[in-house]
Formats: sequence, C-alpha cells, structure tokens
Amino acid sequence: MLQFKGKGVYPASLFKRQQVQVCRRQVKDTQAEIERVKAAKQKAMQQLCGLYEKALKEAGEESAQIFEIHKMMLEDEDYSGSIQNIINTQAVNGEYAVAVTADNFSDMFGAMDDEYMQSRAADVRDISNRLIACMTDTGCTNSSFTEKAVIIADDLAPSETALLDKDKVLAFVTASGSSNSHTAILAASMNIPAVVGVGKDILQNVRDGQTVIVNGITGQITLEPEDYPSEEEQFKAYKSVLENMAGKRVIIRTLDIGADKQIDYFKLEKEDNPALGLRAIRLCLTRPQIFETQLRALYRASVYGKLGIMFPMITSVKELERIDRLCSKVKKELADEGIPFAQTVETGIMIETPAAAMISDRLAAMVDFFSVGTNDLTQYTLACDRQNAAVEQFVDTHHEAVLRLIELSAKNAHAGGSWIGICGELAADLSLTEYFLRIGIDELSVSPPFILPLRDKIRSIDLSK
Ligand code: PEP
Ligand code: MG
Repeated sequence: MLQFKGKGVYPASLFKRQQVQVCRRQVKDTQAEIERVKAAKQKAMQQLCGLYEKALKEAGEESAQIFEIHKMMLEDEDYSGSIQNIINTQAVNGEYAVAVTADNFSDMFGAMDDEYMQSRAADVRDISNRLIACMTDTGCTNSSFTEKAVIIADDLAPSETALLDKDKVLAFVTASGSSNSHTAILAASMNIPAVVGVGKDILQNVRDGQTVIVNGITGQITLEPEDYPSEEEQFKAYKSVLENMAGKRVIIRTLDIGADKQIDYFKLEKEDNPALGLRAIRLCLTRPQIFETQLRALYRASVYGKLGIMFPMITSVKELERIDRLCSKVKKELADEGIPFAQTVETGIMIETPAAAMISDRLAAMVDFFSVGTNDLTQYTLACDRQNAAVEQFVDTHHEAVLRLIELSAKNAHAGGSWIGICGELAADLSLTEYFLRIGIDELSVSPPFILPLRDKIRSIDLSK
C-alpha cells in the first residue's frame, strides 16, 4: 500500500470507465489494418502531446516525462512489430492485434524481478487502450465528475490520472497498483491525496455518495466517519504537523467550511447565496463550541513547535474582538487545568473580503499577520461566484480593484507592525511576482509544484532597479 500527503473527506464516487469490447475478426486486407493502426498511432501521439502539456502545467516537468515515455513506448519497434506480425500472420483486425500485444508485453513486464519494471505493465496497457480507443473512436475514460469527490477505482492509468480535474478530485483510492506506478508518481506531484493498492474489497464496500476519509499520510480509509473530529484527534494531528516541521513556522487556518467547502456532518441549512452566508468564521462564531474545541486543540499543540493561527473570512473589528475573547477564554481554561501552551502563538487573519482590506489599518493593530486569500477576495470584489462557470469570463484575476486592495492591505499591515502573505492562487502567478515584491508582500504561499518556479522567478528580480 502506498500513501501520499494530505487528507480528503468527501463523498465517494466510483470511477466509471467506458469499456471497449475487443473482438477477433478475420480480415482480407491486412495492409489496410496495418494502415488503420498507423493512423490510430498518430492520433494517440497527438493526445499524448496534449497530456504532456497538461501534466507539465499541473504536475511539473518530471511527471510530464511519463507521457514522453508513453510516446517512446508507442514508437517502440518490438511493440509495433508484434502488432504487425499478429495482423499479418493471423489475418486479424488491428484492435485484436493491439490487445494481444498489450497482454503479452504487460505479462512480460509483470514477470520481471525488478519492481520498477513490473510497474511498466500498467503503462503498456495504458498506451494500448489509447490506441484501441483511437481505432474505435471511443473515449478512453469517463472522468467527468460534477461534484467534489473521492474517486474509488480498480486502478487508474497514468493518463486517466493526468486527466482528473484537480478541483473536483480531492483524493483517490485504487484497489490495485503500486508505489512505482506512474499513476502514483503523478498523484504525488499533482498534490492529490492517494492510497493505492488497497485490495479488491474496497470496490464492494463503497457505494457512490458514501462519505469517505482518505488519509494519504497513514493510508487509512474510513467509511462513513462519525461526528466532528474530537479535541484529542485534532490535537494529535496539529502536534504531528508541528513536530514534523521541526521549529519552522506552521500556520493553521481555523475551520473554513460552507459555500464552496461543504461537509455533510455539519448539516448546514441550504442557503440561496451560500458565498454570502454562514461560512468560515461566521460558522465558528455561531457555533462557539466547535470553535473552542479547535482552539483548545491548537493551543495544546502549540508547545510542539512554532504555531500561527489564521482566521478566515473576516469582515469586521467586532469579529476579531469576539475571536480574541474566545482565545482568552480557552487559554484561561487551559491554564486553570494546568495544561501548557505557548505564549508566542501568532494570530492572523485572511484578507478575503473588500471590507477587511478597507479597514486593514484597524485590523493590523489587532493581529500579527495578514494572509490574502485572493480566491475569495476576487470573488467578493468582482461579484463573481467562484463556483459559477457562467461568470468565469467576467473574472479578471489581475483586476485593478483586487490589486489595489492587496496593496492597501500590505501598506496597512506594515504600518501596524504586521507581516503580510498571499495564500490564494494568485501567489503562484509569476506575472505578478515582481509586483507583489515591490508592494512589500513578505510571503507567498504556494503548493509544492510551484515552489521551484516561484523561487527561480524571485531570484531573477532585481528590486534595486
Ligand atoms: C482564498 O480564498 O484565496 C483562500 C486561500 O482560501 P480558499 O480558496 O480555501 O477559500
Ligand atoms: Mg477563501
């Protein structure tokens, strides 16, 4: 079994693959079949170029190379020779010749001693399925999920993994597969929590829509998890992160659900305008019991490293005062119970609303840091629901209004003695890096595939000019 970073708690969705039945057919014109295979190969090559580009963007150069390897496999003389040989000697259709070649080659790889070579069997099957799909004009897979989900599959081919919509697929679990598979490598670089090779039982035990927790760190899969995570569970999770970061700053955002982030067990009322509704800090302040449990767990864990606590969706000074009172209450309780907590915990807020940016001078005096959530800040500034594809054409992520609000927040943060970072998607937008540095952004928080390109970009900028 193999695990990757991250955790996903979402409804399960069983992966549906379009099955192509390959039949053996006698043919008279073997040369015409060979030409059909060649034409399909050209089409497959084009598709692999597309996959390479997609993987390059989403998973980085190293992972994208997987599809260069697929192209090489498709061009391999032994592989093509075998297909032609079967067509010529048996006078059969191309699809059948490809399927038999795929079986032979994947059996051969599977029988090798070397684990890495064994895993190449999946690549041969992947390119062969692509070739057959091109010959029969069928799609390779059906991976069009409309809702966020944990995908449960017998196995996923590397190309199927690359085609997953990262915004919808929050984790996946496969019955077979190994840590050396290109699927596993891709999932890791696409930052999708994944547990592979858990055995066939999973396919029988999970139903579509059932809630599943996939813990990509421990490999644990929990079906229909109970209630809210307890203080103890949260404490252990935070402690482990802090210990693993060995004294480096760890910022943990408090509960940020509602609107685009739903969790079934909260049983949130359906709202007409969820983005303007009871979400993030509003939910915490409405259900203080849940918030206090999280704060207790956070403060208890604070002695294991350098913790910062960050509050999402702030719009007013009043909210911060209420948060402050709850933090003081929790700290007093812990002190009364003789439970240690660090005195140096930084607190910060996310600048995700125009309101927070506009009053950032007042807010800066109350916290240690700001972190600009550009996804929500853009949504609320431009009045474009981030979930609504119909208004996507009206979203200008470089809109002057958004940039001015960030600039204002940076100015006020520094004037109030706070530091400021950006943690929304815009932090990874290299065309804005120089601008962010010039307006005094102190930190850019990006997901792992963007770290090296961003570092490279920052090093290329000469701020003295
Ligand atoms: C943001 O809004 O930019 C952000 C970082 O938070 P999320 O995307 O999780 O709402
Ligand atoms: Mg947000």
